[in-house]
Amino acid sequence: MRPEILFPLFAPIGTLKGVGAKVAPLVERLAGPIVRDLLFVPPHNLIVRERTTVAQARDGEVQTFEVTIDQHQKPRKIGVPYKVRAFDGTGFLHLTWFRTYGDTVERALPVGTQRVVSGKVERFGAEVQLAHPDYMLPPERADEIPPVEPVYPATAGLSSRQFRRLVQMALEKAPELLEWQDGAWLDRNNWPSWREALATLHAPESELDLSLDAPARKRLAYDELLAHQLAMIRRKLERGHVPAPVLHAGERSAAVKAALPFRLTGAQQRAMTEIRADLGSGHRMSRLLQGDVGSGKTVVAVLAMADAASSGFQAALMAPTEILARQHFERIEPLLASAGLTGLLLTGRDKGAGRKAKLAALADGSAQVAVGTHALFQDEVVFKALALAVVDEQHRFGVNERRRLQEKGAGVHLLSMSATPIPRTLELTQYGDLDVSRLDEKPPGRKPITTAAVPTARIGEIAARLDTAVKAGAQAYWICPLVAESEVADLAAAEARAAALREMLAAPVGLVHGQMPGPEKDAVMTAFAAGELSILVATTVVEVGVDVPNATIMVIEHAERFGLAQLHQLRGRVGRGSGESSCILLYDAPLSETAKARLDVLRQSEDGFQIAEEDWRLRGGGDLLGLKQSGFPDYRMADPIAHRDLLLAAADDARLVLGRDPELKSERGRRLRVLSELFDWRADRSNAPA
Ligand code: ADP
Ligand code: MG
Repeated sequence: MRPEILFPLFAPIGTLKGVGAKVAPLVERLAGPIVRDLLFVPPHNLIVRERTTVAQARDGEVQTFEVTIDQHQKPRKIGVPYKVRAFDGTGFLHLTWFRTYGDTVERALPVGTQRVVSGKVERFGAEVQLAHPDYMLPPERADEIPPVEPVYPATAGLSSRQFRRLVQMALEKAPELLEWQDGAWLDRNNWPSWREALATLHAPESELDLSLDAPARKRLAYDELLAHQLAMIRRKLERGHVPAPVLHAGERSAAVKAALPFRLTGAQQRAMTEIRADLGSGHRMSRLLQGDVGSGKTVVAVLAMADAASSGFQAALMAPTEILARQHFERIEPLLASAGLTGLLLTGRDKGAGRKAKLAALADGSAQVAVGTHALFQDEVVFKALALAVVDEQHRFGVNERRRLQEKGAGVHLLSMSATPIPRTLELTQYGDLDVSRLDEKPPGRKPITTAAVPTARIGEIAARLDTAVKAGAQAYWICPLVAESEVADLAAAEARAAALREMLAAPVGLVHGQMPGPEKDAVMTAFAAGELSILVATTVVEVGVDVPNATIMVIEHAERFGLAQLHQLRGRVGRGSGESSCILLYDAPLSETAKARLDVLRQSEDGFQIAEEDWRLRGGGDLLGLKQSGFPDYRMADPIAHRDLLLAAADDARLVLGRDPELKSERGRRLRVLSELFDWRADRSNAPA
C-alpha cells in the first residue's frame, strides 16, 4: 500500500498547473506519467548567463544585455524574420524572430523603452543578433533572469524552460520524508537528506553539480539502487517459497567425493556449502554457478547430483551439444559407478530399443542420473523422481527449455552453470532472480598461458613457429572470426586459411564452421580430440567446454573484433594439459587506444572475473543501449559504471536489512518501505529486470 504522504508525487502530471491535454503527453514522453517522474529527470546541462555589453558580445555564448529599443523592422515577405533593433551605447543589438507576427513583440518592446534581454549570441560580421531571446524584461524585473539555469530535455511543444518550471512545481509538492538511510552512512558520505538532495539536483550552480559524483546525485542514485536491490531480494524471498524435495548429502555423496583424484578447491567447497543449504531448505533452489572454463564446475554438479541420489531422487544434467554431453558423461559415469549409482546418456542419437531401455530406466528409477542434450526434456522422457536439474552453458538454452526439464518433477531444484563470468554489477542487477555462486579460484597445477598480441603482417612467422610445434606433436586451434558481411564469404576465408595452413605445415588440418551439420561437426571435433588432426580451423567459437588436453596453441585472427569475454573463453580451450600453452592474438594494425587496452587486459590476466570487470570499465558508458537491450534496468539516477561502488554497497545493505527484518517492520524497515514505494520497483513494472 502506498503511504499517503507520497500521494502528491504519484498524482498524474495533468494535475500540475499549465499541463493540459496538449502538454501532458509531451511531459509523459520526456519524464513519465506522474509528478514524481519530473523530479527523477536530472538536468543534463546548465546555462550560465553573463551580463555584458554589445561590443563585448561573444558568438555562441548565452549573454544578457541592457538595451534601449530603437526600431521595429517588420518583414515584408514570408521567410524573412521579424527584427527589432536595439542599442546600449556600445553598439546595435538585433533581436529576431521567425514565424512571429509583430503584435506580441511590438507590445513587449515599445520603441524607446529600456529592456534587459538575454539569449544566445550570434555574430554575423559586425552584426550582433539574439534569435528568439529567452528573456525580455523591464530593468526593474531583471532579477527574474536566473544567472544559472539548468537545462532539461526538450521536445517540439515543450521547451527546456517550461520543463524546468514543471520540475520546480513538482519540487514544491515533494514532502519531507523520514530518513531511510543509515545515519552513519549518510554522515560518512556527506550526503544531504532526500528532499534537500532533490532541491540541489535541480539547482546546479556549476558543471560540478551536474556530475555523477556530486553528493546530491550520489545520494539519489544510492536511494534508487537500494530500492531496486530491496525489491529484487524481496522477490527472491517470495519466489523461494516453492516447496521442493529436501536433499541431503549422504553415502553416495561421500563415495563420489572419495573417488575424486583431487581435493576440492576453496571456491568449490564454498559453492557446495551454498548449494547444500538450498537443497536442504525444503524450498526450490534457483542458483547460477559462475566460473571460468576449467574452474571445475562439473565436479560441483556431480556432488549435487549425488546428494539427490543419496536422498532417493534423480538428477539430470543437460548440455547444449551432443559432444559436450558425451564428454560430461564419460567423466561423470565412473564417479557415479564408484558410488554404486547408475547414470545414462540420452541424446538425439538414441533410437529404437536402446532408447526405449534408457527411458524405462529413468521411468522406473533404476538410473539415478541422466546426462544428455535437448533430448532430455522431450515429452516421452519421464522420470520416477526428478529433484535436480543441472543446465550447463545455461545461456545456450531458452528459459522454456530449462523450464520443460524442471517440469519433469515436482519442485525440481535448478542449478545453472555458466562459463561466462559477468561483472558483479551486472550480476546484481540482472540475475536478481537467481542466487549466484562463483568459482573464482582455479584448481591447482594449472600452467599459465603465454599470451601475445601480434600484427597480422607477421602471420608467416606465426605459421613457421606453428610448424615447429606441430612437428613436435602439439595441436593447435586456429580461429577465423565472422568478418565479412556474408557467411559465404566468411566460410570462403576460413577454407582458404585451412588450405594455406595445409600447404605450409604439411600436417593434417581440419575445419569446422557454423553451417556444418551437427554430426559432421562432431566428427571433425572428435578427430581433433583423438589427435588425428594437428590443427583445427574454426569459423565459429569452438564448442565451449570441449576438452582436448593435448591442444596447447590457440591462434585467433582479427582478435580485435572479438569481445574480451569471448577471447578469454577461446583461450580457455588451451592450457588444459601438462604442456606449456600459448595464445596468439592476431590483429589488424593500427589498433585504437581502446582496442589496445583491451588486448592488454587479456595479456595481463587469466582471471575471467577480472577480465569481465575490465571489459565493463573499458566499455565505459558507451554501451548503455546494449545494456538496456540485455535487460539492464532503466535507472534514472544511477549509472551502473560510475556508481558501481554504490551498487555493491546497496546490495550489501539490502541483504543485511532483509536478513534482520524480512518484513521491513522495524523503524528503518518502515522508512525503507516508503523508499520502495517511491521508486516502485515492482515485479510488474516493465523495466524491472525479470
Ligand atoms: P568447467 O566445467 O568449469 O570448465 P571442469 O569441471 O571441466 O571445468 O574441470 C576442468 C578440469 O579440472 C577437469 O579435468 C577436472 O577434473 C579438473 N578439476 C576440477 N576440480 C579440481 C580440483 N579441485 N583439483 C584439481 N583438478 C580439478
Ligand atoms: Mg564444463
